[in-house]
Amino acid sequence: MGRFLVTGGAGYIGSHTAKMLAKTGHEVLVYDNLSRGHRDLVKWGHLVEADIRDTTTLREAMRWFRPEAVIHFAAFAYVGESVTNPHMYYDNNVGGTLSILKAMTDAKVSNLIVSSTCATYGQPDRMPITEDTPQAPINPYGRSKLMMEHVCRDFDHAHGIRHMALRYFNACGCDPDGETGERHDPEPHLIPRALMAAAGEIDALDIFGSDYPTPDGTCIRDYIHVNDLATAHIAGALYLMDGGASDAVNLGTGHGASVKDVLDAAGRVAGKPVPHRMSPRRPGDPAELVAAVAKARRVLNWQAGNSDLDQVISSAWNWYVKDRGRT
Ligand code: UDP
Repeated sequence: MGRFLVTGGAGYIGSHTAKMLAKTGHEVLVYDNLSRGHRDLVKWGHLVEADIRDTTTLREAMRWFRPEAVIHFAAFAYVGESVTNPHMYYDNNVGGTLSILKAMTDAKVSNLIVSSTCATYGQPDRMPITEDTPQAPINPYGRSKLMMEHVCRDFDHAHGIRHMALRYFNACGCDPDGETGERHDPEPHLIPRALMAAAGEIDALDIFGSDYPTPDGTCIRDYIHVNDLATAHIAGALYLMDGGASDAVNLGTGHGASVKDVLDAAGRVAGKPVPHRMSPRRPGDPAELVAAVAKARRVLNWQAGNSDLDQVISSAWNWYVKDRGRT
């Protein structure tokens, strides 16, 4: 039984993690400015509605709640947006993390689980990607996340705040109970867009590139269910609370699926083929990103257990149908 302050707990991965924490007997305080999160998805713990760059409010929340660990999700995560508006990304992602670390230093909270990403690796040519692959991000989003990792290391050195940086591959799927899920506006991600096409909300799914050097010509990604990510965050927090040293691990399944594999699975789940068309490559998309998973198993004693593609997509479909019927 622990107390966890969850920044971004009204968002996609944050709300699933808040639920998982509450279900396993922990206390949760969600800290979210609701700029991208949703008030109705804060169901597991109280909400402090404030910005992570507001160090004073953060510090007060920490002094009052006395968390054993902070789980930090609050960040912007769209590659395209980061290219057109880098200020937003460095200010919120890097500045926000600095503010959290300052508040933690002042409030004497010493364990931080922080969301990082496979985008910090850029376009590596060796698969699967191990954690010691050079980090060479190719867009401001990836660079902002790499800077967050550096900032965390410096605060460990200076102030003894230990962290676990979790480098996610492709987060997907939704709570199988339908109590929370993915709600982005606009929605850029493959699986929700495939379901939108299956349901007729958009006329077709654009396949961004079919001439990649992959077996079927479409990009390969490592799709990991959001609840697997949630359990990894809890494992990371318990690791730090047990005295574990700062570290960084990949969170993926170790298996790749192509865009066409995803469309086939979405068609099986929806019971009809997904309308689609071939479109040009999306700038900045590497051909293949697949996680090496041995370190997560070794350090966190964690591995993905809920990430079978058909199961992932059925949980996303279940949520899509429910959430579209909301109003
Ligand atoms: N993708 C696609 N059509 C879409 C959205 C995505 O073909 O409408 C492809 C995209 O090029 C990438 C993969 O699906 O290869 C996953 O994209 P997503 O945006 O879901 O996640 P990302 O890999 O960018 O984090």
